Amino acid sequence: MHASKYHINTLKEAPAEAEVKSHQLMTRAGMIRKAAGGIYTYMPMGLKVLRKIEAIVRDEMNKAGAIELLMPVVQPAELWVESGRWEQYGGELLRIKDRHNRDFVLQPTSEEVITDIARNEIHSWRQLPLNFYHIQTKFRDERRPRFGLMRGREFTMKDAYSFDRDEASAQASYDAMFEAYMRIFGRLGLEFRAVAADTGSIGGSRSHEFQVIADTGEDLIVYNPASPYAANLELAEAPCLIAERGPATENLAKTATPDAPKCEIVAEQLSRPLTDTVKCIVLATEVEGKPEETRIWLLLLRGDHELNEVKTGKLPGFENGYRFATEDEILETFGCIPGYLGPISPVKPITVIADRTVANMSNFICGANEQGYHYTGANWGRDLPEPQVSDLRNVIAGDPDPQGGNLALQRGIEVGHVFFLGDKYSKALGATFLEKDGKPAMLQMGCYGIGISRISAAAIEQNHDDKGIIWPLAIAPFEVVICPMGLQKSETVRNASEWLYQELQAAGVDVILDDRDTRPGIMFADWELIGVPLRITIGDRGLKDNVLEIQARRDDSAAKVPVEEALSHILDRLK
Ligand code: ATP
Ligand code: MG
Ligand code: MG
Ligand code: MG
Repeated sequence: MHASKYHINTLKEAPAEAEVKSHQLMTRAGMIRKAAGGIYTYMPMGLKVLRKIEAIVRDEMNKAGAIELLMPVVQPAELWVESGRWEQYGGELLRIKDRHNRDFVLQPTSEEVITDIARNEIHSWRQLPLNFYHIQTKFRDERRPRFGLMRGREFTMKDAYSFDRDEASAQASYDAMFEAYMRIFGRLGLEFRAVAADTGSIGGSRSHEFQVIADTGEDLIVYNPASPYAANLELAEAPCLIAERGPATENLAKTATPDAPKCEIVAEQLSRPLTDTVKCIVLATEVEGKPEETRIWLLLLRGDHELNEVKTGKLPGFENGYRFATEDEILETFGCIPGYLGPISPVKPITVIADRTVANMSNFICGANEQGYHYTGANWGRDLPEPQVSDLRNVIAGDPDPQGGNLALQRGIEVGHVFFLGDKYSKALGATFLEKDGKPAMLQMGCYGIGISRISAAAIEQNHDDKGIIWPLAIAPFEVVICPMGLQKSETVRNASEWLYQELQAAGVDVILDDRDTRPGIMFADWELIGVPLRITIGDRGLKDNVLEIQARRDDSAAKVPVEEALSHILDRLK
């Protein structure tokens, strides 16, 4: 690409409404232009970034065995009525009518259409498993569209849907997608974390989000640096906060945690909360080397809680990692109803936990030791403000006393989400297939989203400086920019630049040659703002000494490299 034949239009100022860096920088770099609130044109360079993200996603989806198709943006209301979401979805669902007064929706996601496809296309167990995906425009009439591509109303999402014979096979499909997502976000060059998550309006019983780590993220993640535990705070509010600091808390922390055996939170929010203030947590404690002594703790919180009798029991399946338990399962195992609060069996000290969602019931804290179960801070009803992130950091992440809590907090941007759906949609739409024995059975489903356009913004939130964007190589609009000094005047510079440009192109490098007639300062500022990973400067002065200059976007200064070594040097740096 020659810059003189391309469209580059950088701006000095960001629009006043742009609150976050990605919105400011994408606008200033000329990657997006606003059409309406939350609705943008992807300008040529912005589109290049999206296409690169899509290519990585597509490649890994294909490798994981998913099959691409393309479902419509405009979908008939009938299917949404069938699933129940015509009623349930709320204001985010954009409903439109055609000239015959028939109802349609602009798809926010495609469970209905794909389940309709499945019920018509899948007849036999022999066809399973199947996983269909598409990369398509979504529309969600977000209450607060903001932050540019981060929370748009129209945006691009990859959504995949798996169909399986039974739950075990559906779990395998879920796991395969989870693994594919790990590879995708790794290849995108982003620092990310997979966390246990809420299932929201998509529904289902099990889910994980993929969060790009960035201080400007809207989500709060709680994780244990010493274990695989990580969850979206939205879901895991309970285990992470000790909001009230006072003698009671301190005592509790001291008595509860010394020489505690390994303790891990193994499941969270066993069911959708019954009220806003209900949260359920299952804890497992494990004595090193004695898996048979693993104990499951159950904690169910409710505003009007009462202590009831509870059976001692053990939920299967927690021994190797964690899973989610259903409310029915808990009821059956422990014979208790939500509202019960306490350990399932007396065990050694565990940890100290508290619940942010009960903040309006004051700061609730509980823990346990050999003597049994303790809780404190039960100042029910007192009207206290929600704890702030800064409080939490002090108490948890920044706690110098490791016994005070081993969980840490960080902010994240949700860029992907995998859900185990079970038969929620197949039941609603009657999507069955014939089993081996000739009997009809419900398709077991999973669904898997990736916010393609949001990823471009998240990458910038994570990678920028005062000068502009610093793209991860894999998704940069161009990998290399050649900046000739005085190309119009010097034939030597022109020839050297064209030569290098051709060589790089032949080597498969995505390169742009800035042959616009601009001053070096402006040229450099443009490419620093745009965030191209590698800049090559070619000028008469250097060529006299047979060198050109190579500078990576994060480098403080340029490296002088002999002309004949330039190509291999550049290719090395792009590895
Ligand atoms: P959020 O919590 O940010 O509202 P969500 O949980 O509603 O997102 P999902 O239904 O899980 O989103 O959709 C899958 C993916 O689509 C998300 O992980 C995110 O990357 C992306 N996404 C969702 N809403 C938007 C939006 N308004 N703009 C851009 N991307 C979005
Ligand atoms: Mg949402
Ligand atoms: Mg979400
Ligand atoms: Mg989500």
